[in-house]
Amino acid sequence: MKRVDTIIVGAGIAGLTAARLLQRAGQEVVVLEARDRIGGRVTTVRTHGMATDMGASWIHGIVDSPVAAAAEAFGMRMREFTVGGYQPDSRPIAHYDPEGTRLSDEAAHRYTTDIHEADAALVSVIAESAPDASYRDVTEAALAQQGWAPERTQRVREYFEHRAEEQYGVHIDDLAAHGLDDDEISGDEVVFPDGYDRLADGLVTGLDVRLEHVVTRVQWSDAGVHVTTDFGDFSADRAIITVPVGVLRGDDFTIDPPLPEPVAGALSRLRMNAFEKVFLRFEKKFWDEDVYAIRQQGPEGKWWHSWYDLTALHDTPTLLTFAAGPAAIETWDWSEAEIVDSVLAQLRRLYGDRVGKPTLVHVTDWRGDPFALGSYAYMTVGSTTNDHDDLATPIGGGVLHLAGEATWTDDPATVTAALCSGHRAACRVLGRDIPIEGAWSGAH
Ligand SMILES: Cc1cc2nc3c(=O)[nH]c(=O)nc-3n(C[C@H](O)[C@H](O)[C@H](O)COP(=O)(O)OP(=O)(O)OC[C@H]3O[C@@H](n4cnc5c(N)ncnc54)[C@H](O)[C@@H]3O)c2cc1C
Repeated sequence: MKRVDTIIVGAGIAGLTAARLLQRAGQEVVVLEARDRIGGRVTTVRTHGMATDMGASWIHGIVDSPVAAAAEAFGMRMREFTVGGYQPDSRPIAHYDPEGTRLSDEAAHRYTTDIHEADAALVSVIAESAPDASYRDVTEAALAQQGWAPERTQRVREYFEHRAEEQYGVHIDDLAAHGLDDDEISGDEVVFPDGYDRLADGLVTGLDVRLEHVVTRVQWSDAGVHVTTDFGDFSADRAIITVPVGVLRGDDFTIDPPLPEPVAGALSRLRMNAFEKVFLRFEKKFWDEDVYAIRQQGPEGKWWHSWYDLTALHDTPTLLTFAAGPAAIETWDWSEAEIVDSVLAQLRRLYGDRVGKPTLVHVTDWRGDPFALGSYAYMTVGSTTNDHDDLATPIGGGVLHLAGEATWTDDPATVTAALCSGHRAACRVLGRDIPIEGAWSGAH
């Protein structure tokens, strides 16, 4: 193949954004994608006319969100669903105590007030934490400041544990103290009843994407890049690599010469998480009316503690729960039926015989996906927030750039991060700032 200006590895949101911006700026670009589809970790399955997002679902706050702007430009329907950031309240939630009894409004208010108080204390504890502190260390310090009785403390401790699991798919002991620093949501959150994959469909228009091209080697030098795939080799002046951290760290993907500092150090401190979705559709709704989510406290909720009511999206009774962190690791080799039975057993504690048999089930397997090897990256203990941006430090005078969710400090692990990092990489390749809106409008 003839040499192009820029090769993009990966047709996820980061890769497509970079490719589209560069192409619109006049570059010749080719996108090499291992899968037989675009979108990467934004992917939707459609069954019985219902779209189910197996990867990303939410925009975590639509105020000043480039993803919301792109979605609007592509005509994607959005629906408000503001509990995607593991908020303790903000929208109606049915909280159940460890015995399986729903908390009164007053008890729920006391519980969520406790969480907010501990959270407020957490801010300065994190700011003053040691470089090797874990999220467990800082939350324990914040809890100790409260002087509560053990049972009261335990409820909020569980909340922090589940937050680390649901937000980053990792056990609280293994997440850096700063691992949730980005956990801020501006405005409402939304989901997509017609599927998040429409975002990728909008971005890909007019691009030269080579599907089923598994990249195994990227050689770089002052003279440019040479990329090896199972369908032949490609050359370019430069490359933007957007594969997930799991692939970057794995043995099947070689960068030659190896990544220099500070990129290599940053990569060594980031890991892919364990986070899977479990969707259950039912014939009849058996759970509480007018709530966004159901949560249970106590040891029975160790794995299955939160369910999100997606009924309104397709007017079909639907719950979404997550196997997150330890739950995902321990159910790794379980069959779908075993996972569903385990989830249903917990729902039966709360709702008894009213719990029907699911009519449709989806369970994801991102850890087993060779082109993801997990859902998204988290900061291991000892990492710093800058590791994200450092991972995108231009290499070889700008011959090689890394982009993707893990390379964006401001809001890592999100579609926003992927989009913004793709834009940043395109600007760096061009050596000038271009508006991000160019990815979805006619602007240059
Ligand atoms: C279960 C789950 C839930 C999530 N929930 C949310 C959410 O609600 N909101 C949110 O904002 N974000 C969420 N995310 C995160 C979000 O999906 C990602 O941050 C984002 O999609 C990453 O985009 P990316 O372009 O960086 O990477 P990717 O989408 O992974 O794109 C990289 C591409 O590289 C390709 N590739 C890999 N290896 C090779 C190779 N060797 N050769 C060629 N190509 C290769 C991959 O196939 C992929 O298409 C979720 C993710 C998961 C998995």
